[in-house]
Amino acid sequence: MRPVCFPLMMLTLSLTAAPPSLSAQRPCSAEANRHFDFWEGRWMVRAATGALAGHNTLSLVLGECVLQEHYATPSGYEGKSLNIFDQTRGVWHQTWVDNQGALLQLEGGYQDDRMVMQSETVDAAGIVTLNRITWSRIDGGRDRVRQLWELSTDGGTAWTTSFDGTYIRLETGADWDLLIQGGTVMNGTGRPGFSADVAIVDDRIVRVSRTPLDPERASRTIDATGLVVAPGFIDLHAHLDPLLRLPGAESHVRQGVTTALGGPDGGGPWPFAEHLELAASVGVGMNVGFMVGHNTVRREVMGLENRAPTASELERMKGIVAQAMDEGAWAISTGLKYLPGAFSELDEVVALSEVAGRMGGFYTSHLREEGLGLLEGVGEALEIGKRANIPIVLTHHKVVGQPTWGASVKTLAMVDSARAAGTDAMIDQYPYTASYTGITILIPAWAMAGGTGDLFQRMEDPALADSILSGIKFNIINDRGGNDLRRVQFAIVRWDRSLEGKTLHDWAMREGLASTPETGARLVIEAVRRGGASAIFHAMSEEDVERIMAHPFTMIASDGRLTQPGEGHPHPRWYGTFPRVLGLYARDKGVISLEQAVRKMSTMPAERMGLRERGQLREGWFADVVIFDPATVADQATFEEPHQYPVGIGWVLVNGAIVVENGQYRNIRGGRVLRRGRN
Ligand SMILES: [Zn+2]
Repeated sequence: MRPVCFPLMMLTLSLTAAPPSLSAQRPCSAEANRHFDFWEGRWMVRAATGALAGHNTLSLVLGECVLQEHYATPSGYEGKSLNIFDQTRGVWHQTWVDNQGALLQLEGGYQDDRMVMQSETVDAAGIVTLNRITWSRIDGGRDRVRQLWELSTDGGTAWTTSFDGTYIRLETGADWDLLIQGGTVMNGTGRPGFSADVAIVDDRIVRVSRTPLDPERASRTIDATGLVVAPGFIDLHAHLDPLLRLPGAESHVRQGVTTALGGPDGGGPWPFAEHLELAASVGVGMNVGFMVGHNTVRREVMGLENRAPTASELERMKGIVAQAMDEGAWAISTGLKYLPGAFSELDEVVALSEVAGRMGGFYTSHLREEGLGLLEGVGEALEIGKRANIPIVLTHHKVVGQPTWGASVKTLAMVDSARAAGTDAMIDQYPYTASYTGITILIPAWAMAGGTGDLFQRMEDPALADSILSGIKFNIINDRGGNDLRRVQFAIVRWDRSLEGKTLHDWAMREGLASTPETGARLVIEAVRRGGASAIFHAMSEEDVERIMAHPFTMIASDGRLTQPGEGHPHPRWYGTFPRVLGLYARDKGVISLEQAVRKMSTMPAERMGLRERGQLREGWFADVVIFDPATVADQATFEEPHQYPVGIGWVLVNGAIVVENGQYRNIRGGRVLRRGRN
């Protein structure tokens, strides 16, 4: 705001008022926003003679109500200022410094259609000088502003003009690439939605304004009247394995997901850096990050052996975890229900998690058991968090199998008391009463040691075969089988596509067999013999799902795999998780408020990841944005017809790029590969 070099170097300064109290600062007011029109933008400054005085750029920084200024003249003079609106006193406070050592503090505000800033300086001889700078619009427009700088050495009676010139706004095309007008902003913090306009430049949100912004200043506008504008959703549990084949990630992006974390359930990629580079080289439709997977690491070092690691094997595993963390992994994931994680004891997992925790990661766990052994599984994860001193997530938290239904009362209480005792425990969840995984989950882990070859060898031994079959029968009755073959629905069956979507019961009928747990156990072995299958297990209760969702530390995550229409028979969560929570659970059932639903999908997972400048709709942060219709948003994918995109998600922006436009997906690769410590 200073057009000339001003001789302040020798001056000492006395403030006209005490600096504002930071604790009293509130979000920027409409009053302060009105002032930006005088300032924000790129300006050419001309003296009254018409001569070029310099160039000035004023831009918003650090969210609401903080402006940064940069002024430079052709002769090499350069100055910068920071301008903060103190809402408590309703004044702007400015600190100005320049490359000649001057420091000036000014205060002022907006009055009578003018912006006036003043300061008082005292020089070495004790002479007090008042500075008064006034900005006023020329002809009422926003592109030409007069700046008048006056000085007084007699306490403000007589004023002399130091500079009188004109700010001329530089037209560098539009000020904003995109303006989202008239929507209800739910900013991700859980606070009530408010109406605001959102302006975007390049990959950043630059304005969230409660007063309407001028659409003339934007290259493009979106009318969001009646719609919710929210931070893009962050999926903490995503199976991104098909990413190189489906880099556009349409099934995720169309749910409003702008960032997804891959490598869950112990299955992170290896070699880690190579995988990230490959993903970056194909270009991705949403932001992706990855976790290092315990099962991957154990398999790398020990194969599928059912024993504890030797000291040197443990050291090698720790080394792999450390390397992946160093290469940008966000967390360590375990899948203690799966192989070879099922063979590991607590000490091993603690030792590896300590490494990840020390390097800033968190721990996410597919529990050892989610049915009869659920409480022990939760206890083990909480114990790992405590002993390894690492923040944890109980991922896709659920209660499987009728005998255990209702146990979420206990598991949530366990999380609460662990938190009270200092363990940083959180939960994520998908909003369905059925789970999805390989059908081998029904086979006892000991029987799977060494892989399927060893399983069939054991089946040759009548005694072993008996206990394997009764183990499967037990799981059909008490665990994922839901005590009814109709509850096990085939998803992907490469060796017989006609079974996809059908149940174990349907298969038994087709073979002319009785629909009993015994038959089920034999068919499971048969399915594995023919090449395996994945299945949907309808074995949870709605009460548990809702109770878990309502818990204040539960986040939403899909556990979904990238897919596209026509590929097998996926779990509907792959297409519907986020809109289902917004529509069915927030709007229709009222299990949580819409603002809380958004928070559980954005701010909470971003904070768990330690993801910088994402997860909130906030000035200066990345323009990952979803615009949805709160009246119509809904999942469409069902267990019968899973290949259906949701409705009501009109717009999705990834790093400012419009990836979903008025409901239409655009295969542009707006995403980035995110690495911990670097993003
Ligand atoms: Zn899992």
